[in-house]
Amino acid sequence: MTPEKDVSRFFVLRGQKVLVDTSTQPPCIPLEGAAKGLEPHLADSYGLGSRKGVSCHAFSVPKGTDPPPGMEFLGLRQLFGLLSEDEYAMAVRAMGILNWDRTHQFCSNCGSKAGRHPSILAKQCDVCGFTMFPRISPAVIVLVERDDRVLLARASRFAENIYSVLAGFVEPGETLEDVVRREIREEVGIEVKDIRYFGSQPWPYPDSLMIAFTAAWAAGDIAVDNEEIVDAKWFTAGDLPRIPDRVSIARSLIDWFIEKHRRGT
Ligand SMILES: [Zn+2]
Repeated sequence: MTPEKDVSRFFVLRGQKVLVDTSTQPPCIPLEGAAKGLEPHLADSYGLGSRKGVSCHAFSVPKGTDPPPGMEFLGLRQLFGLLSEDEYAMAVRAMGILNWDRTHQFCSNCGSKAGRHPSILAKQCDVCGFTMFPRISPAVIVLVERDDRVLLARASRFAENIYSVLAGFVEPGETLEDVVRREIREEVGIEVKDIRYFGSQPWPYPDSLMIAFTAAWAAGDIAVDNEEIVDAKWFTAGDLPRIPDRVSIARSLIDWFIEKHRRGT
């Protein structure tokens, strides 16, 4: 326990779900003391920093752990819009750190058991001294426009009938602009120009950072790769297919496009 007089907030994860006190309105992340019976797991917690003067801690509990009365384990997608923006952002941080903790138990240089670094958010190998920082995998996500239309594609991994903007992971040695050009070329066979930064979003499934751009069509006709992408088309704002949930930055990009055309600019 921290010696601070303020109580702490506990981000308790069971797998990919977060413990939420659903007896309050609106629901919230439980305060220290409310998460009864889970304190023994606090020994392995990570400090997340503080929000609004309340220090926040994250720890995992084993599969099969029952939630305390009045609480539920909920997925991050369910928490979006349910929790305050602050608490949701901290839940994303908790998920990212605990996913990394679980999947980086051993030194990736020599294979020995890795322990926590004493002072920074990292793991350190006692045998070879190698330091492992939380892994973050950057990926670009791009909305391509051609006149008054937007390029949306259906990826083979998507739920049926969902169309979205294109995305791809950054490879070593690439600038973000390189990735934008390469991904669009590989997946749908077109060239783009006027690449502009739009925003970013941590996406802890398990460790992505989505970096969003807009771009304009420059040349080429759509030719899908038929591996990652099974269909792609140009759509107007008034005639869109089924698009992703509002939790994702993909949806923020598409909403930006819709709003722009609704205003007629
Ligand atoms: Zn090592």
